[in-house]
Amino acid sequence: MPLRSPLYSQRSLVLTLIALLGAGFLATSLLSYFASRTSIRDNIVNTELPLTSDTVYSEIQKDLVRPILISSMMSRDTFMRDWVVAGERDPDQMTRYLNEVMTHYGAYTAFFVSDSSLTYYHAKGVLKQIKVDEPRDTWYFRVRDMKDPYEINVDPDLANKDSLTFFINYKVYDYHNRFIGAAGVGLTVDAVIKLIDKYQQRYQRSVYFVDTFGRLVLTGAEGGPEGAQVGQTLHELDSMKDLQARLPKPHSGSYEYSSHGQGHFLNVRFIPELNWYLFVDKREDGALSEIRQSLYLNLLICLVVTLSVLFLLNRVISRYQRRIHAQATLDSLTDLPNRRGFDLLAAQAMHEAQREPKPLTAMLLDLDHFKALNDTHGHLAGDQVLAGFARDLESCLRHADIVCRWGGEEFIVLLKDTDGDTGHKIAEKIRQHVEQQRYAYDGKSLQLTVSIGVTSLQADDTLHSLLSRADHAMYRAKQAGRNRTCVEMPHSRYE
Ligand code: GH3
Ligand code: MG
Ligand code: MG
Repeated sequence: MPLRSPLYSQRSLVLTLIALLGAGFLATSLLSYFASRTSIRDNIVNTELPLTSDTVYSEIQKDLVRPILISSMMSRDTFMRDWVVAGERDPDQMTRYLNEVMTHYGAYTAFFVSDSSLTYYHAKGVLKQIKVDEPRDTWYFRVRDMKDPYEINVDPDLANKDSLTFFINYKVYDYHNRFIGAAGVGLTVDAVIKLIDKYQQRYQRSVYFVDTFGRLVLTGAEGGPEGAQVGQTLHELDSMKDLQARLPKPHSGSYEYSSHGQGHFLNVRFIPELNWYLFVDKREDGALSEIRQSLYLNLLICLVVTLSVLFLLNRVISRYQRRIHAQATLDSLTDLPNRRGFDLLAAQAMHEAQREPKPLTAMLLDLDHFKALNDTHGHLAGDQVLAGFARDLESCLRHADIVCRWGGEEFIVLLKDTDGDTGHKIAEKIRQHVEQQRYAYDGKSLQLTVSIGVTSLQADDTLHSLLSRADHAMYRAKQAGRNRTCVEMPHSRYE
């Protein structure tokens, strides 16, 4: 099985951790985002929008119930019926009556239309004659023919500068149950419009009324959805295309649709008194922007945490790797590179020397009679001498030179940019230095000598051939009586 490099496994570990942490964080952030989104949506659909709808509806009811009662009372009023049956003789009487009703009950207008004379009476006098072919008067003929006792109609009021008015149109009958006209009061929709405006502005939702034909009949002062005006049908609105596809005709219920790529929640409620539908619409964007922001913040925090964890992990792993590498390539007793460390350094030094080309000299050093030193003074004394010798050896060399503990009491030195003669001189310097050096151990002063073999790099050398020659030279130094330096070149040997 091929071995994976430490770098490869470190990278795959880091990538796996990124994937795990990232996926974990992403999953929890998204899960909590979707959970909050669902609960916010539920809240909007099931609570917020129906609540707004309830409030607007109850406000309308409050505004309408009293006028309906007043109109009902007018339709049963004996004065009015007597006056009509008696032939509508004194219009002032009717005007006074209507004015009294209007002022006493705080209505916006009060009216009576006689069926026999088609005269429109209102609180300030006789307004006009009703005509069958006048579009503004169609309401009267509708009321006349309808089965219900009354209707609520929203129309501009001719008697009040055409301002939009709720009219309660009550049918009036004589004592023989014959239809004699329509009476009722009108009230402005200002209060409702104000309420709609409040909801539209404060709670950022669209509130508007739509009739059974899908026509916008009432909304806030600033218009309905996307500024739509009263009178427009929802079909005409570009923003309502998606909703129209789902809801071709208004129908009570909760809906979701999109307009210009924006999600909307919609609550539709039928208002039987008006025969209208109340639409309360809220944009998803505004509702969800807060949790979307918290999602982004969450993701940012996750990213920072993931990156910090990875940064710290990477640092710890790198530190351990460096330590393991150092342990694997350094000798623990002398702190010099061991064989493995030497192999790496030597390969590079050989490569550089042969490429340039530059001289390179190798030295093999073996301590003399070291076994005897161990035997006499103990192994610990031997260890201390070995460490001291390593320091001395280093002190005689340049920083760029390569020193290694080859094994036991043998050392190798590669002198960079150094020819054989200079190498020989350096070896001699080392030998003499060691000869004069004293190593203190347990109150004793220990002495040491070293035999050194020296050789220089040749063009066709390998590390093995180079070290073999140095070893051979060192062997000769031992043979020649130790404590000496021998040089071995491919064609010459000397001491
Ligand atoms: P020679 O002059 O021929 O080199 O004789 P020598 O005694 O040095 O040679 P030999 O190879 O017979 O013995 C080497 C000794 O070095 C034997 C071994 O116990 C000792 N030695 C090797 N490594 C260590 C070490 O790490 N610590 C100590 N204290 N002794 C060591
Ligand atoms: Mg030896
Ligand atoms: Mg030895």
